[in-house]
Amino acid sequence: MHPDIATSIANLRDRIDSWRAAEETIALVPTMGALHSGHLQLVELASERCDRVVVSIFVNPTQFGPEEDFSRYPRRPEADLEALARVGVPLVFAPTADEMYPSGYATTVKVGGPSEGLESDFRPHFFEGVATVVSKLLISCFPDEAVFGEKDYQQLLVVRRLVSDLRLPTRIVAAPTAREDDGLALSSRNAYLSPEERRRAPLIYSSLQRAAEALRAGAPAASTVNDVKERLTEAGFRVDYVSLRHSETLQPLAELSEGPARLLAAAWMGGTRLIDNIAV
Ligand code: AMP
Repeated sequence: MHPDIATSIANLRDRIDSWRAAEETIALVPTMGALHSGHLQLVELASERCDRVVVSIFVNPTQFGPEEDFSRYPRRPEADLEALARVGVPLVFAPTADEMYPSGYATTVKVGGPSEGLESDFRPHFFEGVATVVSKLLISCFPDEAVFGEKDYQQLLVVRRLVSDLRLPTRIVAAPTAREDDGLALSSRNAYLSPEERRRAPLIYSSLQRAAEALRAGAPAASTVNDVKERLTEAGFRVDYVSLRHSETLQPLAELSEGPARLLAAAWMGGTRLIDNIAV
């Protein structure tokens, strides 16, 4: 059976109120749709942890820059509903843009700290759009838990920060990155890759893995990070960044000894921007 679909916040709250009245716990999984098995792993984790799972599907216009792929972002509502039916999701929240951004809206959420640098250097509006929509989703639903993927590691930390700063009553749960057999992180944007680009795309993950091993073996951070950039560039990527960061604050790390570390990368393969990261 297909999940019920709430397209307004009022409908969503009605359903949630009835679950709350029955003392059921609720998890939210925010997505932009075009669901793949990475999204479904988030749903599975949410189902293990809470009685009811709400999946939101909303291609959020405010997190795309004017030159970015908002209009061509894949939209597959029927296939998404079928996939969510198979994993037993009872409710999908699929608001219109008007519902999320009423005419004349003038309120946004801006997070400092972990949103600075990395993605923000290349997508300056991105995290304000993400923080605003995630705040609205959490306030619309007040779930006990919300599940986010480590695939978007900086986003995960930005969401944790905003939930803590706004004192929202939701626990943020992280799910590990789901990958293809060859290591490429699953992403709705992988659909943009030509067969030849798809063949080369796993090099991001294999380069990060190689660098993480070298770092653990004592290789210096700066040259190891540079090696990744060079390998990717030689293979035809255009690199936005490769960076070694503190895994909780995202502050740059000059050496591995300075704290728990994460290696993060973003690079273009043709017209497709790919991001990935791993724990070091
Ligand atoms: P998106 O629809 O791309 O905005 O992603 C919605 C949620 O799914 C975010 O929390 C992402 O981090 C998560 N996600 C996307 N791809 C993956 C993946 N390959 N593995 C784990 N989580 C993912």
